[in-house]
Amino acid sequence: MIKEKTFLNIITYAPLFFIPIFVATIIIFSYQIYSQSFESGIKELEKNLLNIEKKATKDKVIDMSDLIVYKKSKIKDKLTSRVKARVNMAFVIANNIYKKYKDTKTEKEIKDIIKTTLKALVWNRGESFIWILDYNGVFNLAPEYLKHLEGSSVLELQDSTERYVIKEEIAICKEKGEGFIRDTSTKPNKDINKQYEQVAFVKAFGHYDWYFGSAEYLDTATEKTDKELFSMLEKVDNIGNNYIFVINTKGDILVNRYIPQFVGKNINIMDKLVKDTIETSIKSLKNKNNTAYFYDWYNKISDKVEKKYAYLQKVPNTDWIIGSGFYLSDIENSLMKQKVNMLEIYSSNSKYMFYIAILAIILALIVSFFISQKIKKSFAQYKASICDKTDELKELNHTLELKVIKRTTELEKIKDDFEKLATTDALTKIHNRYSLMNMISVEISRSHRYDTPLSIIMYDVDFFKKVNDTYGHDIGDIVLISLSNLVKKNLRDIDIIGRYGGEEFLIILPNTVLDDAQLFAERLRKEVDEYSFETVDNITVSIGIAELRPNEDEDQLFKRVDKLLYKSKNGGRNKISF
Ligand code: GH3
Ligand code: MG
Ligand code: MG
Repeated sequence: MIKEKTFLNIITYAPLFFIPIFVATIIIFSYQIYSQSFESGIKELEKNLLNIEKKATKDKVIDMSDLIVYKKSKIKDKLTSRVKARVNMAFVIANNIYKKYKDTKTEKEIKDIIKTTLKALVWNRGESFIWILDYNGVFNLAPEYLKHLEGSSVLELQDSTERYVIKEEIAICKEKGEGFIRDTSTKPNKDINKQYEQVAFVKAFGHYDWYFGSAEYLDTATEKTDKELFSMLEKVDNIGNNYIFVINTKGDILVNRYIPQFVGKNINIMDKLVKDTIETSIKSLKNKNNTAYFYDWYNKISDKVEKKYAYLQKVPNTDWIIGSGFYLSDIENSLMKQKVNMLEIYSSNSKYMFYIAILAIILALIVSFFISQKIKKSFAQYKASICDKTDELKELNHTLELKVIKRTTELEKIKDDFEKLATTDALTKIHNRYSLMNMISVEISRSHRYDTPLSIIMYDVDFFKKVNDTYGHDIGDIVLISLSNLVKKNLRDIDIIGRYGGEEFLIILPNTVLDDAQLFAERLRKEVDEYSFETVDNITVSIGIAELRPNEDEDQLFKRVDKLLYKSKNGGRNKISF
């Protein structure tokens, strides 16, 4: 059994212990969930970052590819408008000169001024210029490298496709005043036998049978656009390890800010590792338009060969391959930065969580304290009420015990009274006949068993009828009482006196031989004889004395003593017989 104090301690302090533990458990559990979600958040971020970077790279490459396609598609448009603008400019200049000098100078002088002025108009390092021909095909203004043809007719000039291009130009000027013509021509400072595709614009001057012309080589225009594109591509996304690279299917490095020393050169001269990587990607793009892969590449910043991801795409209508990529370490760096940010948030959140946890535990403690106090108070009240009830019960029990004792005493008294009543003679208060018979049988048994003497004395009041008749029954009763008291006074403690019937009495004398009984009987007879009873004065008794004989029973003894009593009666009364 738990002791009351231990039990009280348990119910008082259990909430103080368990509630904060419960709260702390919930907090720890929540914190673990939060940490797990943070960890998975980091993993998700890692995955997302890689995917985002991959997509950004791909988008960037696709955008640039689209831009290249667009810019290249504009090459011819730009070229034609450039060529037309140049010829128109030459026409305006020539027209102004003509207007200015037509009245003051001769035709030859004006023509010379125009030729000299327009000769200065050259573009693309002398590749584009203004030429002047007349309708007979005579070169009036020829470029520097064809100076030897000035003054002579080139009417019969054929291009690489054997077209009479001068004749076509003259026809355009004559018919429409101006127009484009696409043909081939030689280039200055280049092999004179090699023809290059070009777009030319011709326009009739009007004042003379002259026409102006200018042309631009398509490859030059393309080259020019490519250069613009290259320089633009070099600048795009030009931060850290980010750059766009362009190669052609032959393996020429066209754009690569990262390895400027190799730009314009073929991969054949590069490291085997680099060469193989690029060659593999070129090969893989033979049957598809784009590819993406991880590979090893030197990282300038870390000065190490690192894993890199690249997305490559063929630029439509060209032999170019454009690509871009990133080092995984850059992602990791960016991840690290984000992780640091997240960790800062995480740790500050953790800090707040910690404060909240402490607060929650303190609150839990306070609440627990109040709960335990409440329990303690309730328990104390309960205990007090139990104590009260116990006291009440104790008192009740005590009262009951007292009642029981009283009742028992009463019952015992009743029992005693009853027993006394049953064994006592109502008038004389000495043993009645019933009691006497019980006692004599006990004494006889004892005497026989222990072989001790036992004597009995039986006496009867003489002429008692006469007392009643003379003084009345009540006086007779008083005499019987007085007689009993008188006899009782002469008895030993062990002697027993009883009323045998009417005015006849018996005295049992244990341990008494006949002689002693005889002496006692005589003394008794004498004392009664000499005693003065109230009203009656003198009465006498007749006595029979007998000692129990061996093997004698109760009846025999009584018969004997009865006979002896009558012997005394018959002998004159106031006598003893033995
Ligand atoms: P004796 O014995 O000398 O021969 O004469 P007696 O007059 O005593 O004779 P008996 O024994 O015949 O009479 C006894 C009388 O005692 C009869 C009865 O009225 C009277 N008596 C018996 N018991 C009581 C009693 O309790 N009270 C009174 N007052 N008288 C009693
Ligand atoms: Mg009698
Ligand atoms: Mg008598």
